[in-house]
Amino acid sequence: MKFVDEYRDAGVAQGYARAIARQVTRPWTIMEICGGQTHTIVKYGVDTLLPKSLTLVHGPGCPVCVTPIELIDKAVEIASRPDVIFCSFGDMLRVPGTTHDLLTVKARGGDVRIVYSPLDTVRIAKEHPDKQIVFFAVGFETTAPANAMAVAQARREGLANFSLLVSHVLVPPAMEAILSSPRNRVQGFLAAGHVCAVMGYQEYEPIAAKYRVPIVVTGFEPVDVFQGIAMCVAQLESGRAEVENQYARSVRREGNRPAQQLIREVFRVVRRRWRGVGEIPESGLGLSDAYADFDAERRFGPAASGSDHTSECQSGLVLQGVLKPNECPAFGTRCTPERPLGAPMVSSEGACAAYYRYRRMRDADTAAVEPRS
Ligand code: SF4
Repeated sequence: MKFVDEYRDAGVAQGYARAIARQVTRPWTIMEICGGQTHTIVKYGVDTLLPKSLTLVHGPGCPVCVTPIELIDKAVEIASRPDVIFCSFGDMLRVPGTTHDLLTVKARGGDVRIVYSPLDTVRIAKEHPDKQIVFFAVGFETTAPANAMAVAQARREGLANFSLLVSHVLVPPAMEAILSSPRNRVQGFLAAGHVCAVMGYQEYEPIAAKYRVPIVVTGFEPVDVFQGIAMCVAQLESGRAEVENQYARSVRREGNRPAQQLIREVFRVVRRRWRGVGEIPESGLGLSDAYADFDAERRFGPAASGSDHTSECQSGLVLQGVLKPNECPAFGTRCTPERPLGAPMVSSEGACAAYYRYRRMRDADTAAVEPRS
């Protein structure tokens, strides 16, 4: 299949691995932002083909993982109401709240539905005028345009029974938070290609300049990731700190302007607490004043401020690249996909889920094993 097979070519990937090995002269640490890239790296053993002095750490790009506990608790509360049909992407259902998750609400009789597009929820709202339809709008800039489109359509159709519980997050403020942390060890980034397909990469240029870090916009196939790493290493070795675009087949510097316009119309930038990480200024999206009537927190009451301190989950350290998933003491023992302590173990983009699925029985520094299923 064009644009897939050539990016999974083992020979090309090994060629990049050899080129990287020739380039590296000293230790470097590179973070891939996106959970999809993490899964590619772990599934295909990309990191096992790199020189030992080159460390890949996994970033905060799993939106399910960073959704704050107070919004999970609010989702559970709203979904438990008899007058509500609560719609969500499937990943969110098993994310633990303070006492239980959305799947438990569903098992107890709550009308919790998995949808594949936010526009499905608009249809459900039209079909059930006697119910309140709430969609859990979670995601980075990638999913914001589709969610904005759903709200705009609901308003056009005069659907007073439709609302969004919004937990959108933005990538650049999270990168700055990581780079500003005293524990930071990231020296270069692979930026998330799909986020940049929407937003472009102009907003990364001041970050690269301010923190002197190379940022390479990178795709999701193994060859994409190898090439992104090679470009990042080339910059590190030569002392450059620029934004480069490996994913040129999908990303333009200016991004998708109509999608950005839609985001600006429907959302506004807000402070957001990231689960396990803490509050990051201007790191989220909330509904703009023009769409405030569709805000589920206005309709059902605001989420209470939460705390992650009761959990032994160390997802905050995993999401900041400080800890590898299999360095968490609970990994694979007290925390498994069947009994998760944290969202990274159940999200399809979670780093802990990737390690459990693809390399549960090995240490981070030994050879890769075949996928378990
Ligand atoms: S292994 Fe489980 S407890 Fe540990 S960081 Fe990952 S999700 Fe949290």
